[in-house]
Amino acid sequence: MRRGRALLAAAAAPVAVAAWHIVPAATWLPPVRAALFPALDGRGSPRHVALTFDDGPDVRSTPHFLRELDHLGVRATFFLQGAAVRRHPALVRTMAAAGHELAVHCWEHQPPWLPRPVAERRDLERAVLALRETAGTEPRWYRPPFGVLTATRWRAARRLGLRPVLWTAWGRDWRARADTDSVLSDLCKRLTGGATVLLHDSDRNSAPGSWNVTLAALPYLVARCRAAGWGIGPLAEHGAGG
Ligand SMILES: [Zn+2]
Repeated sequence: MRRGRALLAAAAAPVAVAAWHIVPAATWLPPVRAALFPALDGRGSPRHVALTFDDGPDVRSTPHFLRELDHLGVRATFFLQGAAVRRHPALVRTMAAAGHELAVHCWEHQPPWLPRPVAERRDLERAVLALRETAGTEPRWYRPPFGVLTATRWRAARRLGLRPVLWTAWGRDWRARADTDSVLSDLCKRLTGGATVLLHDSDRNSAPGSWNVTLAALPYLVARCRAAGWGIGPLAEHGAGG
């Protein structure tokens, strides 16, 4: 019996650690987030929509987004992977020179399921340093990979002065079966003034080639916002505080 209890306790310990670590990940669920953590959504001025992209910079796809955004007269916030920033510094400088806001996504796209506090902090420090040294910018925002904000990631971001921000509307553009209509339809379910929109300018962590669909949806999204009387631009102009 005593041995049974000991075994149970041994089994429960890792579960407890995992639960402590991952409970904040419930913030991933938009209704939970809206109710408990409204600041995390990045909800801003009702006359503005924040346009954000994750997972770049990517030399195959990001330049297409820069051209399209220039054509549309729109600037955005890009949540970048630090390792890719180091690999493609010229592209990152081009993004900054075009007036886009550069923010921190991660170093590499590590899954969040096990606590790795030292590595998480080191990764974020490296990502901030990469942006500072490459583009001369001081990032203000942090969005964790998979939108899963664990306690470890939250603490690491705050120590670096980064404000965690997720999104209020997404296009689910990473899916292999996404097309322009599905991306716009998913976005419009939660597209309101004050929304923060999540899209991806790279297929690095998505279905191969999925960025083509995102790129094709972009002019329609911008037109929809403008028809509603909303400005569309980076988080810096969103009035989300922080
Ligand atoms: Zn990502």
